[in-house]
Amino acid sequence: MPFDERYVVSSEKQVAAELEHALDRMRNRDRGTAPVMIDGQPCCAECEEPMPKRARLGYGRCIDCQSRHERTQGE
Ligand SMILES: [Zn+2]
Repeated sequence: MPFDERYVVSSEKQVAAELEHALDRMRNRDRGTAPVMIDGQPCCAECEEPMPKRARLGYGRCIDCQSRHERTQGE
């Protein structure tokens, strides 16, 4: 899975934000895109990159697709 360097640098903040988002997503399932299952692995709904950890956090997209999505959604 592609790993964004900016993500590493701000990982502490990012983890807190992700937890917040994950909780939010669990409460608002309809707002999130479900990951696609490929060979039994949850993958990004947009680029189909395997991302089991993010799927467990409630994300349907990988880091790249999610940040792009959030920028265009303005949420
Ligand atoms: Zn993706």
